[in-house]
Amino acid sequence: MQDNEFDFFVIGAGSGGVRAARIAAAHGAKVGIAEGRDLGGTCVNRGCVPKKLMVYAAKFNKEFNDSAGYGWWFFGLRHFNWQTLLRNKDNEIKRLNDIYRTILTDAGVSLFNGYARFIDPHTVEIDGQQVKARKFLIATGGVPKLPDIKGAEHLVTSDDIFHLDKMPGHIVIMGGGYIALEFASIFKGLGSDVTIIHRNTTLLRGFDHDIRKTLEQEMQKKDIRLLLDCAPLHIRKEKGKTLIQTDHGEIIRCDLALAATGRAPNTASLGLDLAGVQPSANGAIPTNRDNQTNIPHIYALGDIANHHNLTPVAIEEGHALVDRLYGNQPDRYISYDNIPTAVFTDPPIGTVGITEDQAKADKIDYILYKTSFRPMKYTLSGRDEKTFMKLIVARDSHKVLGVHMLGEDAPEIIQMAAIAVKMGATKQDFDATIGVHPTAAEEFVTMRTPSQP
Ligand code: NDP
Repeated sequence: MQDNEFDFFVIGAGSGGVRAARIAAAHGAKVGIAEGRDLGGTCVNRGCVPKKLMVYAAKFNKEFNDSAGYGWWFFGLRHFNWQTLLRNKDNEIKRLNDIYRTILTDAGVSLFNGYARFIDPHTVEIDGQQVKARKFLIATGGVPKLPDIKGAEHLVTSDDIFHLDKMPGHIVIMGGGYIALEFASIFKGLGSDVTIIHRNTTLLRGFDHDIRKTLEQEMQKKDIRLLLDCAPLHIRKEKGKTLIQTDHGEIIRCDLALAATGRAPNTASLGLDLAGVQPSANGAIPTNRDNQTNIPHIYALGDIANHHNLTPVAIEEGHALVDRLYGNQPDRYISYDNIPTAVFTDPPIGTVGITEDQAKADKIDYILYKTSFRPMKYTLSGRDEKTFMKLIVARDSHKVLGVHMLGEDAPEIIQMAAIAVKMGATKQDFDATIGVHPTAAEEFVTMRTPSQP
C-alpha cells in the first residue's frame, strides 16, 4: 500500500470518528483521519465539555446563596469574571485536544489537518492532497441551524457562545430543547437576565410531560422569562442592542440573542455527489443497520446519520462498526433501547426508558409512581426548589419501563438507574434494594403507593 492509501479513512475527528479510527488501528487496519477544525469535534470544543464547565461555573452562585442558611458569611462583593472562566475553559479544551492527538498518533492513525472532499467513491482530497481508501467513514456531525426569519444574521449560535467577549446582561434564547434550556440555566446562574422564546406550548419535546411541566415551573421560579407559543417575527440591531419583534406584539431589547433551534447534519463540501452518496431531504446520510450508506464501502454514523444525536451513542456506534469490520466480531451491534440522557438545566434532568405518553401511545398497561419533595439540602437554605421523580412500571410483568428525575444530581443518578432498566429490573427489584440514607436517590427504592395517571 502506498503512503496515501488506507484500509479505513475517517472524515471527522469528533466523538464517533476518533473512537472508530483508534480501535480500527488497534485491530490492525491502516487508518487515516481528516479533521478541518479541532480534534474532538463538537462535544469537546463546542458542546458537552465546555457546556458542563459553564454549568459548574453557574452552580457556584447557587451554592454561595444556599450556604447562608448553613452559617456561611461572605464579606465584600462576590464577583464573577467571564474572561477567567473562558481562559481556563480554553486551556482545558486545549489539553483535551492534545490528548486526542496523542491517542490517535499512539494508535498509529495518520492525521490529516484539513477538510476532506470526495472526488470519486474511493478518493478524497484534503488541501490538494489525494488519499485513497478501501472503506470510508463519514462522521462529520452537525452544525447549528438558524431559524428562517428576517434579521437572523444578528443571532449567535452555540458555536459562538463559548467565545463571547463579555457576558450578556440580558440574553434572549430561541428554542425549547437541550441547548436552549441548558444555556438559559447557565446564564441565569451566572447572573444574566434570561428570556426564552419557544414556538411550542411546552418545553423539551419528547420528554415526560411531568418533567416538562416541573422544569417550566422551576425555571419560572428562578425568574427565567418563558414566552411559550411565541415566535420571533424579525430581528434588528440598534445602538449595540438586539431588538426582537415577537408575534405576541412585543419588542424585546437584549444584549445577545441565541438561536438554539436545532442542528443540521454537516454534509457541506463533502462532495457526496461525486462519491454517489445520497443524503435524505433534511441533509442526513441514511444508513442501514451496518452503518453503510447507499454506497456499501462508505459508512456514516453519529449526528450525520441523525437518529440518536448523543455523544456516547456515536462513540459506541464507531466502536461497534470497526469491531465488526476489523475485529472479527460480526455480531457486535449496539442496542438503541433505553438510552439514558440528561439535560443540564437547573435543576437538571435525568431520564431513561419510556415516557407516560409513549406508554399510552403503545397501549401499555402501566402503574405510575411519583414523588415530589424539597430536598434536605434546601431545608436550611430555604430554597424553594422541588425534586421530582417518576417510575413507569408495566402492570403485567412489573418491569420498570421508565425512570424520570428532575433534581440535583439527576444525571449522575440516572446513569445507575439505566443499568437496572437495561437489565429488565422489576418494581420488586427496586423495592428489595436497600436505600442509601439520607439521599434523594433512595426515593427510587421507597416509592410504594401508586399515583393516578
Ligand atoms: P433540540 O432538537 O433539542 O431542540 C430544538 C428546539 O428548537 C426545539 O425546542 C424546537 O421546537 C425548536 N425549533 C426547531 N426549529 C425551530 C424553528 N424553525 N423556529 C423556532 N424553534 C424551532 O435541538 P438542540 O439544538 O437543543 O440540540 C441538538 C442536539 O444536540 C439534540 O438532539 C441533543 O440530542 C444534543 N444535545 C444533547 C445534550 C445533552 O445530552 N445534555 C446537550 C445539548 C445538545 P419544538 O420542540 O417545537 O420542535
